[in-house]
Amino acid sequence: MKISGLKGIGSKTEQLFNRLGVYTAEDLLTFYPRRYDVYEQPVGIDEMTGNKLYAFWGTVISDCEINTRSRYKVLSVYAADDKGGRIKLTWFNMPFLAGQLKRGFKWIFRGEAAFKGSLVFMEQPSLYSYEQYMAKMNSMQPVYPLTAGLTNNAVTKAVKQCFEMGLTLSEYLPDSVIANAGLTGRSEAVYAIHFPTDADGLAQARRRVVFDEFFLFTLAIRSLKNANLLANNDKIIPQSTYSAIILANLGYELTNAQKKVRAEIASDMTGSRTMNRLIQGDVGSGKTIIAFLAMTDAAAAGYQSALMAPTEVLAKQHYEDFCRTLKENDIPLRCVLLTGSMPAAAKREALEALASGEADMAVGTHAVISDGVSFKNLGLVVTDEQHRFGVRQREALHLKGASPHIIVMSATPIPRSLAIILYGELDISVIDEKPANRLPIKNCVVDDSYRQKAYKFIENEILKGHQAYIICAMAEDNEDSDNGLELENVVDYSESLRRHYNGRFTVEYLHGKMKSAAKNEIMERFASGEIQILVSTTVVEVGINVPNATVMLVENAERFGLAGLHQLRGRVGRGDSQSYCIFVSNTKNELTKERLSILKDSNDGFYIAEQDLRLRGPGDMLGSRQSGDFGFALGNIYADADVLKLAADTARLLLEADGELCAPENALLRNELEEYMKTSLGNLNI
Ligand code: ADP
Ligand code: MG
Repeated sequence: MKISGLKGIGSKTEQLFNRLGVYTAEDLLTFYPRRYDVYEQPVGIDEMTGNKLYAFWGTVISDCEINTRSRYKVLSVYAADDKGGRIKLTWFNMPFLAGQLKRGFKWIFRGEAAFKGSLVFMEQPSLYSYEQYMAKMNSMQPVYPLTAGLTNNAVTKAVKQCFEMGLTLSEYLPDSVIANAGLTGRSEAVYAIHFPTDADGLAQARRRVVFDEFFLFTLAIRSLKNANLLANNDKIIPQSTYSAIILANLGYELTNAQKKVRAEIASDMTGSRTMNRLIQGDVGSGKTIIAFLAMTDAAAAGYQSALMAPTEVLAKQHYEDFCRTLKENDIPLRCVLLTGSMPAAAKREALEALASGEADMAVGTHAVISDGVSFKNLGLVVTDEQHRFGVRQREALHLKGASPHIIVMSATPIPRSLAIILYGELDISVIDEKPANRLPIKNCVVDDSYRQKAYKFIENEILKGHQAYIICAMAEDNEDSDNGLELENVVDYSESLRRHYNGRFTVEYLHGKMKSAAKNEIMERFASGEIQILVSTTVVEVGINVPNATVMLVENAERFGLAGLHQLRGRVGRGDSQSYCIFVSNTKNELTKERLSILKDSNDGFYIAEQDLRLRGPGDMLGSRQSGDFGFALGNIYADADVLKLAADTARLLLEADGELCAPENALLRNELEEYMKTSLGNLNI
């Protein structure tokens, strides 16, 4: 049933839902909340002791004041509780609240408490009548991901309606699996994820849904597993004079960790089995050169190779690096570029060169390489930033060569025990050392008041000939109407920054909704040094290498996950100059502060991933998108490592007993798995 079939959803609201990927009422059932709001018992003002969320029942005891401070209209008022505690309340850009805040009015106010000397205050508290609040109290209210124009209330109502109509997801797991893994029933779990009665019920429900995700995934991987993975090596590729020449002229020495991985690759490619190797190395550890050397070795042995990058910008950058290196070393190899936005004629030429064997190497985006490219003699495939690739693409590419050697490179730290489950037969190498010329990035966490100083600091770096990134949470104004807070957006921000610097510096912006040609142009101008300050959303996160950029300033740093911030920060500190990362956040929240201080004190991706897990609170229960994003809807491979192992073991046992899932009790599961492999598997970033 289309979503517009629900009461209260017209064509306009339908479009908003569509924007969130919800088309049918059934889609809504698996449109999970981002987190939950828990409405606690109201407290007295004197009981507020930390920068935490509190509710209190208070009376307005002053007239509203409206001030115009900086860019915001600030409305403020004093309130008191019945024990005489006083508190100052302020709201930004909500002057219309004045009518509800007349002297003597009583409300339950709910917000994060903050303290200045003896003054207690709250910014942006919500208002409830006593009855409204009591109705919500001690329940967990779902908070859904939203888009401008769609309220949380509207989504909640729509989801409620679906359940009231009796829509549900039917059980497909065999009884034995449910019993052995101790799982909640499926329909019960799906309901409880939306409307949990308590934290325990939610944990149980979530465990079931996460189990399903991992279980179907591991079953699918096992059935996809190609005999090629264990194929005999018929492409012997030893280290060559090409790679020796490149190494000799590199201008730096490989780190010991890089040398070790290079040796592992050589031993694989000359060994008895086709190589399947995962290379994990923190951002900036120098994975690209390792791949490139292996690709030249393949060419020397007479084989073509392909490198797949997750974005066009990155593909182009690798391509240009490779071409330059080949030229500088007079190596007679031909490398071609393959991306979606290149002119048709150029693409045709590249495709022909690969098919005829004239081109030795292809560098491109995964979609392009994995669809419709034929190679004459493909011997090696490298995927860069591998966790961004779909399983399907890996498989498709795999089938193109008669079992090419495979290297996958990832900056996402995954413990070995989990990697084995996720990547099956891959061998794993770790580059656990940064190039010696690197100075560790200097980090600081600051609030708004430091911004002018930060701009001055950035100016000094630019005057030294360096470049800067500024990261904002949003692309354009008003995307996130979720909480009425002001979030910086790249378009307005770059405008005001140009004004700030009086047009002395070239400032441009970048965000994910721009056309890819426009994105490429901006990235190229930044890479060439023409753009001095790039104001961007997290689209710069993946792999871009502009060693001349030495400062990154992240606005609203509290909005990002730890792992994401670490990846972002990896865009600086890639050359031999000192680099800096400035995290700007006004958060008073203790937990958020702790998270940011971990980033401040460490530049080690593995350590940060660990701490990220440790600090995950119940409010983040569903926050899997925040860190280590593998594309599972709820499951987080780190936080849910135990469920992942359980699901993998269960899948293995089940397949040992009934490899083709032919037994009658497995029939529903088999249907579900087939559907999953058709629809969901390709979307995963594993
Ligand atoms: P990542 O592992 O994040 O993909 P890159 O391969 O992009 O990192 O390398 C980052 C930068 O470090 C590049 O400019 C590269 O030339 C440089 N680099 C790689 N290895 C070394 C090394 N051993 N010594 C010095 N610089 C290196
Ligand atoms: Mg890289």
